[in-house]
Amino acid sequence: MTNDTPQVYIVATPIGNMADFSSRAVDTLKTVDIIACEDSRTSASLLKNYGINTPLKSYHKFNEKQRTEEFIKLLSQGKKIALISDAGTPCISDPGRILINEIFDKVKITSIPGACAVITFLSMIPRNTEEFAFAGFLPRIKNQQQKVFEKFVNIDTVFYESANRLLDTLENIKEFRGENTRIAVGRELTKVFEEIKTGTVCEIIDYYKQNILKGEIVCMLYAQDTAEGGEFEIIEKIKKLKNLNYSDKDISVILSTLYGVNKNKIYKQALNL
Ligand code: SAM
Repeated sequence: MTNDTPQVYIVATPIGNMADFSSRAVDTLKTVDIIACEDSRTSASLLKNYGINTPLKSYHKFNEKQRTEEFIKLLSQGKKIALISDAGTPCISDPGRILINEIFDKVKITSIPGACAVITFLSMIPRNTEEFAFAGFLPRIKNQQQKVFEKFVNIDTVFYESANRLLDTLENIKEFRGENTRIAVGRELTKVFEEIKTGTVCEIIDYYKQNILKGEIVCMLYAQDTAEGGEFEIIEKIKKLKNLNYSDKDISVILSTLYGVNKNKIYKQALNL
């Protein structure tokens, strides 16, 4: 295999609005030998809509390793392969990483960019900084979610969530990060019922207890420092540690280590409580 001509194309597909599909993506999918897709039924209607008749081969999390070997064989025979996922950009919380890791040094990989829910969302919500973390899908187990919330305490964090788990996850955020934590939710982006909601975690919980909560969802958990009431949350933590008889000095070390806030400032706050 030579690595001078493109052999594998990573092609983004729409995340809702069928028109969000570039002409370069369509041309590429028409000219490759095989399209690797997650679910051929899901991709078939999109491809039919654009007159793409290239053969499909399933490539999903349950056969990713085995298919990777088959694709490497096909690539060595000079075949060109495009990878798509059910929606959006492959390899972003979607299958593809195993294939890329295997072939990266061996063949030329070309990405045909397009829709991606996390980027679409980030481009339309208020933010204080360019920095963000992307956590993909959060773990379902509560104490594993807590680890994610602690890890990303100082950075705005985007994550994908399902509609039927959103309220539980928001309750966990409320418990671990406090009632004033700021949240943004993007629902059904690029679709007819697209919705963006921002507010404190309590406001968002109240809203979705009373309004339709279905469809596809992407969320932003704002960094603790920029959250309204972030200061309040730290003071609550100081009080809790004081009640457990930690010294002011220990409290300042613990909280500055965990939350990246100024150690001397915490020490002074602890002294004054
Ligand atoms: N690779 C895709 C991408 O580029 O965004 C993401 C794939 S991941 C399996 C699917 C998740 O992305 C959904 O469960 C939802 O959390 C989010 N998502 C996809 N489309 C969306 C949309 N139109 N609006 C909001 N979130 C969306």
